[in-house]
Amino acid sequence: MRIAVGEVSHETNTFCPALTELDEFRAREWAFGQDIVRRHRCVRSYLGGMLAAADRLGIEVAPTFATQATPSGTISRHAYEAILSALFGALRKAGPVDAICLALHGAGVAEDADDLEGDLLGKLRADVGPTVPVVVTLDLHANVTLEMARHATALLTVNCYPHVDAYDRGAEAVELAQRIVNGRARPRMHLTRIPMLVPTTATSLSPLKEVNERCRGWEAKPGIIDCTFVHGFAHTDIPPIAASVIAIADGAAAAAREAAEDVASYAWEARGALLRQTLGPAEAVRQALALEGRPVVINETSDNPGGGAPGDGTHLLRALLEANAPDTCFGFIYDRETAAQAHAAGAGATVRVRLGGKSDRMHGTPIESEAYVVSLTDGRFIRRSPMGRGAQVDLGRMARLRIGAVDVLVSSVREQTLDPEVFLLHGIDVPRCKIVALKSSQHFRAGFEPLAAHILTADSPGLTTLNLASFPYRRVTRPVWPLDADMTYRPA
Ligand SMILES: [Zn+2]
Repeated sequence: MRIAVGEVSHETNTFCPALTELDEFRAREWAFGQDIVRRHRCVRSYLGGMLAAADRLGIEVAPTFATQATPSGTISRHAYEAILSALFGALRKAGPVDAICLALHGAGVAEDADDLEGDLLGKLRADVGPTVPVVVTLDLHANVTLEMARHATALLTVNCYPHVDAYDRGAEAVELAQRIVNGRARPRMHLTRIPMLVPTTATSLSPLKEVNERCRGWEAKPGIIDCTFVHGFAHTDIPPIAASVIAIADGAAAAAREAAEDVASYAWEARGALLRQTLGPAEAVRQALALEGRPVVINETSDNPGGGAPGDGTHLLRALLEANAPDTCFGFIYDRETAAQAHAAGAGATVRVRLGGKSDRMHGTPIESEAYVVSLTDGRFIRRSPMGRGAQVDLGRMARLRIGAVDVLVSSVREQTLDPEVFLLHGIDVPRCKIVALKSSQHFRAGFEPLAAHILTADSPGLTTLNLASFPYRRVTRPVWPLDADMTYRPA
């Protein structure tokens, strides 16, 4: 048996002012053929799981094309055309295959394509015909559409946020594809969309913990292949944004429908608990200093590069600098200019910096200060977090600056903080710190929860704030909760 594998992944935040161009994909990942195997073998990624399952099952893999970019604004027409051309070119070059397994995100938006994945899968289906199994993995933040469900044979979404199970879903995709090809599985998929915007919430916390348990209950029943509550991606302004449930039954479409509608009703009833009280940055720092135990991790959810925010916001950093407490660190802020300045000055120098706040005013103004250059690195390490373990990370030239009593890491690449390794790289041992502040919404939990005495979330104006009412939505299909708080909904 021969299966083609590939990846196209971007989470698009249409509130970002700039278009996402091709160079942002090329900078993160733009790989063909055996280069994909080299990059993903033994990595806890979707493709890593696909490759491992194929090895285990004796399936020949045809690696085609893989690309991803850090979440950002709408993908330019030119970039999307280049991605399609690379993917379809590589698929044709791969020759005849029994099935195709693709890792897609599900919240991609391009100019002229609000539903990037639906559009891509439609083109793929037209190309390969109606019978070739196309098994697709999706991110939990997919805005799943009827188009995607129509053209894919099966959509398998990660169950966890943080997405620690990407590798497992990748492996499942190949296993399911094999069973379909061998005539041992006949997936019947049902998609129930829920007019609901989910503020970023970890699946280890209520109410999504219980929603996931309900899904696992359905999966334990005979004949149900998969049942997943999909959060959707609310930080974008397109008509199809929604939460959803994808249920896949073997043979019987009615069973898939029953499972999907049951979980949709359950999630809808539980929705009130998704709206949480949040702390402003100064209050989060004050509470952290008052808590017993260390470290207290403060995550700046409103400036999460993993959801399209600029990563150079200064609201939380400013609050930390004002508190000026010992054993506190911030890692990291994206500021290529300041990193270059520190590298030019050298370790041991004191420089006058204008740090962060350069992308816009919403995320805060630049911090003007003296900074002591403690150390300099190339920003490279191997990820150890359960999310993506084994992947090569490259944050570009980095600097550890000391501003007052606070250690501040500065990167040259925009990315959320997923891993304590970046602190270790700069000589900071996270468990010894009183406060560790970072930019991420939930993914940091996979690496930091085992170390943290407490976790506090700081929210402020930003492109990934939990305050969804602050976004100027114009195109979202209404009514939608919580924007239309009094609306009613029934899944059937
Ligand atoms: Zn996600």
